[in-house]
Amino acid sequence: MTGSAPSTWLDLPADTVFGPANLPYGVFSTPGTAPRTGVAIGDFVLDLAGVTGDPVHATGTLDAFMAQGPASWREVRDLVTRWLADPAHRGAVEPHLRPRTDVTLRLPFSVGDYVDFYSSQHHAENLGRMFRPDSEPLTPNWRHLPIGYHGRSGTVRVSGTPVRRPCGQRRAPGDPVPSFGPSQRLDIEAEVGFVVGVPSELGAPVPVHAFADHVFGVCLVNDWSARDLQAWEYVPLGPFLGKSFLTSIAPWVVPLAALGAARVAAPPRDPEPLPYLRDDGHPWGLDITLEVRLNGELVSRPPFGQLYWTPAQQLAHMTVNGASLRTGDLFASGTVSGARRDQRGSFIELSWNGQEPLALADGTSRTFLEDGDVVTISGTAPGPDGTRIGFGEVSGQVVPAV
Ligand code: MN
Repeated sequence: MTGSAPSTWLDLPADTVFGPANLPYGVFSTPGTAPRTGVAIGDFVLDLAGVTGDPVHATGTLDAFMAQGPASWREVRDLVTRWLADPAHRGAVEPHLRPRTDVTLRLPFSVGDYVDFYSSQHHAENLGRMFRPDSEPLTPNWRHLPIGYHGRSGTVRVSGTPVRRPCGQRRAPGDPVPSFGPSQRLDIEAEVGFVVGVPSELGAPVPVHAFADHVFGVCLVNDWSARDLQAWEYVPLGPFLGKSFLTSIAPWVVPLAALGAARVAAPPRDPEPLPYLRDDGHPWGLDITLEVRLNGELVSRPPFGQLYWTPAQQLAHMTVNGASLRTGDLFASGTVSGARRDQRGSFIELSWNGQEPLALADGTSRTFLEDGDVVTISGTAPGPDGTRIGFGEVSGQVVPAV
C-alpha cells in the first residue's frame, strides 16, 4: 500500500513536504491572469491548465475536476507523476512551473454544505470537564455516533483572510443579563477537513467502504470560535454565531491517493459501533500531526491519528438518513487534541478555560487571542520511503472588531 516514492528530475529541497509523492491541488493566479488549477511540487506550482491543455483545469476552481471522480483523479495524478519522473518531459513541463512565491493562492473549491464534527475524545472530555464539571465528561451519545453540526459554508475562506473579531451577545459569569460587544474569548480550533468530489443521490446513504469513491482529498481547517458568544447561545440547538463569522482552510487539497502510508486504524471503539458505523477492513484513521503556531511560536502538536471516529465513519453517519452529498461539500473533524497539554488544539484547552495562561517565549502569556495575533496551523503525514506529505498551512491574523 505504501509503495516507494516516485523520483523526479526537478531539483527539490531535501526536506520538502511537497515531493513527487504528494502532489496536492490548489487554485492560483498571477498578476493579470485568470485563476487556474495548480499542483504544488517543491517550491513551485505546476500550472495544470497550461501543461495539460485541459479546460477543466482552467475553470478557476477544482469543482469540475473533483466531480469527475476517482478514475479521472488517478489519470491526472499518474500523468503528472510520469511527467515529473521522466527527464524526457522536462522541456514540455518546465515552462509551466511557477515559483510559489510568485502566485496568489485562492479558495480551491466552491464550498457546498459544511459540517463540523466533534470526534476527538480528548477534546470532548476536556470541554466536558470545563463546562459540565459535575457530570460525565462525554455525553451519553458520544461513543455511539460522530456528533456534528451544520455550519456556514459561505464564510469558509482561504488561508490569509483577516480574522475580524466578532461582536455579539455574551454573558459573563455572575452577570444576570447579557451584554453586546466584541468577543473577549476569541479562539481557534485546529482541524482536518475532507472535501467531497462525487455527489450522492438523495435517499442513498454512503457506506463506510465507499468513502474513497466520493471524497477527493484533505485540507487543513481552522474553525475560529468566539467562546463567550458560543457559551451563551449554544443550548439547546448548538453552535451558531460563535462559529459562523469565519472558517479558514489551507489552499492545498491533498488527494487521498497521497495518503496510503499515512493510514492507520483508529483507537479501539467501545462499545462496538452499530453496523453502519463499523469500519473493519476500511481503516481511515490518518497519521497526520498538526502544528499550531502563535506569532511564529510552536504552541501545540495535535495528533489527528488518535481521533475516535474516522472521516469514513463521519461520512457514513452524515448520510445514513438519506441526506445527499454535493461536489464541494466540506466536513471537518472537530478540534484535534491529544492527551498532553502541548497536544491541545484550542486555546480554551491550552489555557484551561482561561485559568492557566499559556506562557510564551517573548515573556507574555495568552488565554485567548489578542488583536494582531497570527495563528498558523500546518500539518504533515508519513509518505512512502520515509518522506513526509505536507498539507501546507492555514493562517489568519486577528484584526480589531468594527
Ligand atoms: Mn470545530
